[in-house]
Amino acid sequence: MYSIEEIEKTDPEIAELIRREVARQNSHIELIASENWVSKAVMAAMGSPLTNKYAEGYPGKRYYGGCVCVDGVEELAIERAKKLFQCEFANVQPHSGAQANMAVFFAMLKPGDAVLGMGLNHGGHLSHGSEANLSGTYFKAFHYGVNENGFIDYDEVLRIAKECRPKLIVAGASAYGRIIDFRRFREIADEVGAYLMVDIAHIAGLVATGQHPSPMPYAHVVTSTTHKTLRGPRGGIILSSQENAEKFNFNKAVFPGIQGGPLMHVIAAKAVCFKEALEPEFQEYGKNIVANAKALCSGLISRNVNIVSGGTDNHLMLVDLRNREVTGKEMENMLDEVNITCNKNAIPNDPRSPFVTSGVRLGTPAVTSRGMNPEDMDRIAEAIAMTLDSRDNMDKAREIVKGLTEKYPLVG
Ligand SMILES: *Cc1c(COP(=O)(O)O)cnc(C)c1O
Repeated sequence: MYSIEEIEKTDPEIAELIRREVARQNSHIELIASENWVSKAVMAAMGSPLTNKYAEGYPGKRYYGGCVCVDGVEELAIERAKKLFQCEFANVQPHSGAQANMAVFFAMLKPGDAVLGMGLNHGGHLSHGSEANLSGTYFKAFHYGVNENGFIDYDEVLRIAKECRPKLIVAGASAYGRIIDFRRFREIADEVGAYLMVDIAHIAGLVATGQHPSPMPYAHVVTSTTHKTLRGPRGGIILSSQENAEKFNFNKAVFPGIQGGPLMHVIAAKAVCFKEALEPEFQEYGKNIVANAKALCSGLISRNVNIVSGGTDNHLMLVDLRNREVTGKEMENMLDEVNITCNKNAIPNDPRSPFVTSGVRLGTPAVTSRGMNPEDMDRIAEAIAMTLDSRDNMDKAREIVKGLTEKYPLVG
């Protein structure tokens, strides 16, 4: 609809920075597990004049006139989200995953209530009760983690739950490479009289394609982002049964609870994303993400790069650098020098600070969108292992990256 030339005319400085960012994305291998490439259709919807519209409220019940078209947009987004995740209720207005979580806390808890979520240093998310976040300040937060093998120990979760008696248990993670047993989490929640919230921000695209079991039959409420494995615009959603949607009034918690006007251009892009995710091609995409993650993981392990829990079941893995001289921060910087982008990440029981860490998180959603396959993953593993072994190998690693980025030009 509108092009970079339009920006250029008004604001050459911003246009230049966007151009440089596009070139960076083209020339780098993107292994940040929470990033992806959206389709041209999703991108165009985000850049549409729907951003001009105020639409506080919900379809048919707005506080502004002129909402007939955006009502249609939001209704489509809701219907498709419900179909994709097989549930009765969807709220598509949260501006982000953290906002979706905040709305659910606001709907289900009173300030001071106890919540039990995965610890940030064990793979959980800030919004699951971290002391740096509102969720850990207004609520009494308790945490579970993983065992020495890197797996969630459900007996331990139950033990902690019995001790702290939470009103809400949060399952879901940002840096956990294994299948999460939602049925078991619900049993634990029932045993201590807690509600269960499942946050599938990272794995939504895998849940939508059957590559990870769905939490829908077990959770009282499910939250997600739409921009990670789901490959949509930056945003959040809340899903539940009709009964729980009425009981907790999630709609009211989002607006007017914690947000004002919805981002209708982003909701349109969410609708496009859900439509794409309902197509057979997306089923293939989900399979390929996991196949690529497994290939990257075994390529690294065979080159003496350790992985937390010894493997992956989903789209991501945590490199454990404790057998190396290198820290997570250093590895992130070294890979950046060979045009591979990733993020340093604490590993369970990390001896180093969160600013240094002993790990990096690697994920395959973005390289899979770009069209890369398991053989390419082995080449990437080679480039990573080489770089870790010696800085002298960096030129060779850079060559591998260049070959791959040129073979797979950017989509979207
Ligand atoms: C990414 C993430 C979020 C937050 O998403 P934002 O859109 O960045 O606010 C919430 N929960 C989990 C588990 C995540 O990984």
